[in-house]
Amino acid sequence: MTLPLPHPALSAADPELAALIGDEERLQADTLRLIPSENYVSRAVLEASGTVLQNKYSEGYPGRRYYEGQQNIDKVELLAIARAKELFGVEHANVQPYSGSPANLAVYLAFAEPGDTVMGMALPMGGHLTHGWGVSATGKWFRGVQYGVRQDTGRIDFDEVRELALKERPKLIFCGGTALPRTIDFAAFGEIAQESGAILVADVAHIAGLIAGGAHPSPVPYADVISTTTHKTLRGPRGAMLMSREEHAKAIDKAVFPGLQGGPHNQTTAAIAVALHEAAQAPFRTYAESVVANAKALADELLARGFELVSGGTDNHLILMDLTPKNVPGKVAAKALDRAGIVVNYNTVPYDPRKPFDPSGVRIGTPSLTSRGLGTQHMAAVAEWIDRGVTAAGSGDEDVLGEIRSEVAELMAGYPAPGLSA
Ligand SMILES: *Cc1c(COP(=O)(O)O)cnc(C)c1O
Repeated sequence: MTLPLPHPALSAADPELAALIGDEERLQADTLRLIPSENYVSRAVLEASGTVLQNKYSEGYPGRRYYEGQQNIDKVELLAIARAKELFGVEHANVQPYSGSPANLAVYLAFAEPGDTVMGMALPMGGHLTHGWGVSATGKWFRGVQYGVRQDTGRIDFDEVRELALKERPKLIFCGGTALPRTIDFAAFGEIAQESGAILVADVAHIAGLIAGGAHPSPVPYADVISTTTHKTLRGPRGAMLMSREEHAKAIDKAVFPGLQGGPHNQTTAAIAVALHEAAQAPFRTYAESVVANAKALADELLARGFELVSGGTDNHLILMDLTPKNVPGKVAAKALDRAGIVVNYNTVPYDPRKPFDPSGVRIGTPSLTSRGLGTQHMAAVAEWIDRGVTAAGSGDEDVLGEIRSEVAELMAGYPAPGLSA
């Protein structure tokens, strides 16, 4: 398939917007996308999400709707639910949350009252805004107490987490995050939650695909609630799910609707069902394993080039680089790499002496490049581009950035992206 993809009706009705979408298709095809929360969905997922299912209002749940005409929609949602339960081995799944942040807010609504104490990882340590961070509604309406990682190891200190939990007695404990390069010890969090009488929420937004593919341990035996987006390593549409044992099913469902949301986005539910179907096939296991193998190989190649990595490496899909030793601020590096066709995001590192909007780190990951079929044999080249790009960012050498951009586009042309190819 050649780009831009055919969107005949859109091109006729709104050429200006169609052109923008075409530009984005080319950008996603030509660049090396290393943002660890992003991916490429399949053509099947794209097709499901662009359907007439979006014309339908379905407030409520299958068999218990507030609108008629649900003959097909109920089946779509039931299919998505059944596939989620099967794939993750859970008793209950709610596939209606609009995205990860509203899914987490529904968890608060289900299990806590405003003003209650909740515990999560601090945002600058790798947590998420919705884990009780101050600028988020979750930190304004609840009393967020926050844990971090140790400065010397870059890893969670479970003695600290236990001490804090026993002292503060939070209603909820969130584990999981957005910049955690290491395996999450769900068993350790489970023990602490039990000791302190808290509900354990495993927010696996980043690693859901790795869990589904067997490349990261599952939180299912330990977590009371599992929250996940569907659009990161799981390679589905932008959306989210909440999963739990049967005992919490009612509380979660009531919190999502009518507690927080109105009608579910049925076209997204359908696309989630497709993604879950894809993730249940054997090739997805290979995909998940390759994401991790690629990240480990890339980490080794970066270490060999003198990069400092938070926690010294990675166990999963994500690498957090501390560019302090390279004398290039994260934002300067990220913007230069973007001009070089390598798309990353600047990120705080634990104990960052710089400001969040101008931090020391850059966060990268391998879900997208693995979706395009790049393997461990390519990671030396990727690390070399990053190294040259960061050096050029420091010296302001735009020519080098332009050279890298062509080299990247040339390699990526040989690895068509799912969704952007037939
Ligand atoms: C991405 C993410 C979210 C939020 O998801 P959105 O869809 O962006 O609202 C929540 N928690 C974690 C850990 C995430 O990585």
